[in-house]
Amino acid sequence: MSDTNLMPIPGLIDPVPVPRADVVAGVTPREDGKIDLIGLPRKRIAELFEAAGLDARQAKLRAKQVFHWLYHRGVTDFAEMTDIAKAMRPWLSDRFVVGRPEIVEAQHSTDGTRKWLLRTPDAHDFEMVFIPDADRGTLCVSSQVGCTLNCRFCHTGTMRLVRNLTVGEIVGQVMLARDALGEWPKGVADTKIGTMADLDDDEDEGSYTSDGRLLTNIVMMGMGEPLYNFDNVRDALKLVMDGDGLALSKRRITLSTSGVVPKIAQCGEEIGVNLAVSLHAVTKDIRDEIVPINRKYGIEELLQACADYPGASNARRITFEYVMLKDKNDSDDDARELVRLLKHYKLPAKVNLIPFNPWPGAPYECSTPERVRRFSDIVFEAGISAPVRTPRGRDIDAACGQLKTAAEKKSRAELDRLYEDKQAALG
Ligand code: SAH
Ligand code: SF4
Repeated sequence: MSDTNLMPIPGLIDPVPVPRADVVAGVTPREDGKIDLIGLPRKRIAELFEAAGLDARQAKLRAKQVFHWLYHRGVTDFAEMTDIAKAMRPWLSDRFVVGRPEIVEAQHSTDGTRKWLLRTPDAHDFEMVFIPDADRGTLCVSSQVGCTLNCRFCHTGTMRLVRNLTVGEIVGQVMLARDALGEWPKGVADTKIGTMADLDDDEDEGSYTSDGRLLTNIVMMGMGEPLYNFDNVRDALKLVMDGDGLALSKRRITLSTSGVVPKIAQCGEEIGVNLAVSLHAVTKDIRDEIVPINRKYGIEELLQACADYPGASNARRITFEYVMLKDKNDSDDDARELVRLLKHYKLPAKVNLIPFNPWPGAPYECSTPERVRRFSDIVFEAGISAPVRTPRGRDIDAACGQLKTAAEKKSRAELDRLYEDKQAALG
């Protein structure tokens, strides 16, 4: 078998349904036999250097240096690693490479939003989006090609084939964005080595912007369900948070899930990033219809898991995403029930109201602006923040739920069949 790991839909919906594509050696296979170091932890890099002939001490030292060049400086050419002996550099480039996902297309919206269509070595397309704001720049990262789930309003959910992205493909998106934004530190080798302990410091929020960087936040809200690719997402985010590398604070990273309840606690314990939950409905009937994973893990179970989420507090609230669908989930009663539920579970919550982004053949319409405002007011009046998310990058199809390649257009009849298939798989 190649490294391709496609999963037909309907598929299993238990956590981690697809084995890690890179599980054999922790390495993404390449045709030229070289090993791509992106995505590997320092320890693994040291093991590979040792296996290639360095003694253990050398291997450990070189791994530390190379890791710093890779993740802190963004260098992709061993020749530029100036604190490594000149003779050593070709030795490295004969055996290893520092990869990036292939860019198929890069688009720039009139509002500053940027979208990239990327391709895996085995020719699967996925997307990432960068959204600049006045005080922050957010990169929306994909975790899978497609999604095994099939939320009825989501374009990604209509993709038939799914493959987990590898650790390198996930962290590679962040590296690529840094490349495109020209945000790697320049100048002489910077030897300051941070530690993970730095990241545990509650005071560290904001330090990342002090040097004027554009990319300040990451949201796992691109294609795919991150908690169904848990190990790779965790390992990739650990690299993003590593103090000697990209050094992004966990407080600036948000993972969005449609509600994979058994993985939520583990997410808090092992990754520790902010949690966003795609709630979208407050009654069983409606959530069963629009977010079908609800048939497996219901609203009460989900909200209890949120209430128990390690690290959640009033200072670090959980975001509840709520897509506004006309005459489906947008009534005053829905808003009041949302408030009741959030209060009942004593959730440190904020609500993010997302105007539905229509796509060709979508079975819903967006609520009217008046309805969205009224819904927002009801939640606000109950003391819960409920801003309406402004759609960004609509001219380049970069907005929520649009992340899907054009090659996959389907007819309404096909969409209905797919929906029925996935519903049947959920039992
Ligand atoms: N699978 C994860 C993360 C990716 S989806 C999840 O479902 O949470 C990121 C967000 O975009 C989710 O809240 C999702 O419900 C929302 N979304 C998907 N399609 C959308 C659409 N057409 N319009 C508005 N929001 C959408
Ligand atoms: Fe998958 Fe999230 Fe889209 Fe649902 S909303 S189909 S979980 S990507």
